[in-house]
Amino acid sequence: MSPETPTLVAYRFDVPETPVETALPDQPWLRSADEVASGLGCETSRGLTPGDASARLERFGPNRLESEPPVPRWRKFLSHLADPLVYLLLAAVVVSLAVWAIEGAEDVPFEALVILVIVIANAILGYVQEARAERAVAALQEMASTSASVLRDGEEMQVPSVEVVPGDVLLLAEGDAVSADARVFDVASLMVAEASLTGESEPVSKSTAPLDEPSSLGDRTNMVFNGTAVTRGRGRAIVTATGMASEMGNIARLLDTTEEARTPLQREVDAIGRALGIAVIIISAVVVGTILLGSEIREPADFVAVLLVGVSLAVAAVPESLPAVLSLVLALGVQRMAHKNAIVKKLSSVETLGSASVVGSDKTGTLTRSEMTLVKVATPSGEVDVTGTGYRPEGEVLAGDEPIPEGPLLEEVGLVLMGGSLANDAVLRRENGEWVIHGDPTEGAFLVAEAKLGLTASREARFRRVGEIPFSSERKLMTTLQADAERDGQVDVVTKGAPDVLLARCTLELVAGEKRALTEERRRQILATVDRLAGQALRTMAVAYRPLPDGASSSDEDAVEQEMIYLGTVGIIDPPRPEARAAVADALEARIRILMITGDHPLTAARIAGDLGISEQEAVVTGSELEEMDDDGLSAVVRSATVFARVAPEHKLRIVRALQAEGNIVAMTGDGVNDAPALKAADIGVAMGLTGTDVTKEASDMVLADDNFATIIAAVREGRGIFANIRKFLRFLLSSNTGEVLTMFLGVVLAGVIGLEQAGGAVAVPLLATQILWINLLTDTGPALAMGVEPPPHDVMLRPPRHLTERVIDKEMWIGIIWVGLVMAVVTLTALDLGLPGGLFEGTGTIDEARTMAFTTLVFAQLFNCFNARSDRSSAFRSLFTNGWLWGAVALSGLLQVAVVQAPWLNQAFGTVPLGPRDWSICIALASLVLWAAELRKLIARRLGTEGEASVWSGDDRRAPGGQSPASMSML
Ligand code: ATP
Repeated sequence: MSPETPTLVAYRFDVPETPVETALPDQPWLRSADEVASGLGCETSRGLTPGDASARLERFGPNRLESEPPVPRWRKFLSHLADPLVYLLLAAVVVSLAVWAIEGAEDVPFEALVILVIVIANAILGYVQEARAERAVAALQEMASTSASVLRDGEEMQVPSVEVVPGDVLLLAEGDAVSADARVFDVASLMVAEASLTGESEPVSKSTAPLDEPSSLGDRTNMVFNGTAVTRGRGRAIVTATGMASEMGNIARLLDTTEEARTPLQREVDAIGRALGIAVIIISAVVVGTILLGSEIREPADFVAVLLVGVSLAVAAVPESLPAVLSLVLALGVQRMAHKNAIVKKLSSVETLGSASVVGSDKTGTLTRSEMTLVKVATPSGEVDVTGTGYRPEGEVLAGDEPIPEGPLLEEVGLVLMGGSLANDAVLRRENGEWVIHGDPTEGAFLVAEAKLGLTASREARFRRVGEIPFSSERKLMTTLQADAERDGQVDVVTKGAPDVLLARCTLELVAGEKRALTEERRRQILATVDRLAGQALRTMAVAYRPLPDGASSSDEDAVEQEMIYLGTVGIIDPPRPEARAAVADALEARIRILMITGDHPLTAARIAGDLGISEQEAVVTGSELEEMDDDGLSAVVRSATVFARVAPEHKLRIVRALQAEGNIVAMTGDGVNDAPALKAADIGVAMGLTGTDVTKEASDMVLADDNFATIIAAVREGRGIFANIRKFLRFLLSSNTGEVLTMFLGVVLAGVIGLEQAGGAVAVPLLATQILWINLLTDTGPALAMGVEPPPHDVMLRPPRHLTERVIDKEMWIGIIWVGLVMAVVTLTALDLGLPGGLFEGTGTIDEARTMAFTTLVFAQLFNCFNARSDRSSAFRSLFTNGWLWGAVALSGLLQVAVVQAPWLNQAFGTVPLGPRDWSICIALASLVLWAAELRKLIARRLGTEGEASVWSGDDRRAPGGQSPASMSML
């Protein structure tokens, strides 16, 4: 249907200027669903055609909340020039050009032009960095974005939420995020949490009937709204408004767009930048003042030249590029994590991940493979093994090693498997020659086993589903109501679920076709069988049934699932993920505790925890034990317990809180809708990408694209690596800037000592404005960024987690920074002195030659410093060649410096003169002293350093204090 169809026009107001919004139905909650559907030109049984949907997307725009137009690129570029110091520099350049023009405009004004080029080059680099960081973050948001189930051309399909259009039929299920405002026309126990929109904390029940009178948002019970979440049941609804036209859009319009809050790390770096900025400006002022006082300013050009030096020093040494480099390094790190299947939604989570001290993980599907095979069936008449692997429905039913003959046992086994396949939402299908399960693998296991017995066709012909009570982690049961064609449509209640829970609802058992009372003795026997199967790491599930009592329906949950007839119990293999074991060992070595928090049977949980090395104890804390405990009791328990079984989602929340109260940084996994509060409360909520619901994904900080526990630990490793890299480039940038500032400061203050004082007592500047800016351009970008993308240090998982309150730059790091800066200044000034007549060393060169030597020495000193900065304590020669980017950046910077010194046209621009081989050797030898001096300091620090004293994060190659073995750590 084209968007111009008359039916759409029928809903228009009389204001044709805004056709997009007026084409949407007015107050659809007052109309019948059919009226709304026909108004929107949509057939509820088939949905829109793909062509119609894309025409509507064009017309109504993407379904996204955007309250502000995007900032154009040129404004973003200009923002990189918007710095008071840059204004000052540009003003000085303008003044210098004016003076040059007044004085006759003789030579080319190289200095002014070069400064302009460098300022623009810096802005371009800043812009490119920002754009790269933004692209990385946008790509992540895309990955983490939700999709919606819609009906298009009669087919159910998943589309990205941004592509949902008015007129689409939304298919809603438990755990789905509602992606647009929509009029509900079909419901089965549909409950929606609307707190985000209306503030109502309890989920609201939805129905289909039109309302009689205009009502407020919270009372529109036949509507679902963008930004809310389905907590229960299913439904279908026709989309009436998307994006900014939705109710959520109205709110977004009212609110200011808030930028993502800066992370603690970013805030600390901002503060360091500010403090250093002030210090640098004061020092620059002192340098300018000293030169002006000591010089005889004869012409305005002299004054402007000194001013330019001062301002250039301030521009170069104020670490204004730090926040940009930091954002880029975080964004690139987050992108690397995404390639490893860990999609981090906020940059701040990277820091928190690196500090995680406890990971609470689900078992099924995260620590295990979730490729389930049903291998045992225990019925009142005996126990059998089911052979065969994978989902291929080929296998035998054996008792001992013998096939079982026709008789009661085989019949009972058939009933258990049929029952489990009736209380079931999964589908077993053959696709491209492979047998696959769509839906819950636990349920799929029943379908495969039933097919092995050849019962599928007869079950499907005989039963028709007429109702259901969905599975939930709290209930641990799932029920369907089935009309039996062989018994005149008589309806049976068929339930499968956790044996301990289901058995409590059974009063009879079916033995050889006869119903018998379930005695206490039999209950004990059945539970002993369950324990035995669970002790073999099998996931256990029982099956029961009963005829539906007269007048009851699936809405009477409690009444229906009572007085049931027990059929039997199955054992399902769910092997541990092979990579999980290694990941657990890595985590324990990194002093991260692993807790298994599962809804499964305590013995199954304990066995798998043992197999994976999570716990050596048999002790398991169960959900019912947790219920008995108060918060203090729970705090005591979480200090030592590692396996929690038969827990419900609300227990997860209590566990998170108790762990946090003990000072832990907690990562917690979850998939179901009710896990969302625990994920939100955790420091790092981890949602499952494959099996997780939209609601958990939205509540989480990180989504695991592969649902794999090992991915969490890989992400922690990356998080720690990123943090270590941030420290590296901070060390590099700050020590290099200190070197520049001290060179200028000491050069001016000690001008008499090093021969910088000219005849008449005038002080020559140690370095020219263009040279200072060049050093900044050369070293602040390439090498700093290259350091930000180093692979994680070899020992990154051998250290305990960093405390979030620990400073990024600690005392030891500051000492290293100041030491290197000082040595840098001393070697640069020595080069200057060597080139000049007078001073401590007698030279013969001109001031230009001496400056070129000093300039080159300082550039190379900074390049040597790249290798120092990789660690506070490890030698620079350790893992020297692991970072190709760094070598590339250093080589490029070195070559550019050679060009600046040797190329005649650059000589004019930078006030340099070509150097001979001897001078080059002197410069490089002097510059290398920075490396040797840092090595010496590191050696002393390593010798003197007591392991426990300084932060373990500052010594990049030290082990944690205490030295507990991983196994004993797990008991801490
Ligand atoms: P984890 O929390 O580690 O993912 P889990 O998947 O076993 O573990 P739940 O999904 O809460 O946790 O399941 C708890 C129990 O409920 C299971 O041990 C099983 O006995 C039962 N169960 C699981 N899935 C179903 C289902 N689809 N139908 C009926 N019962 C189920």
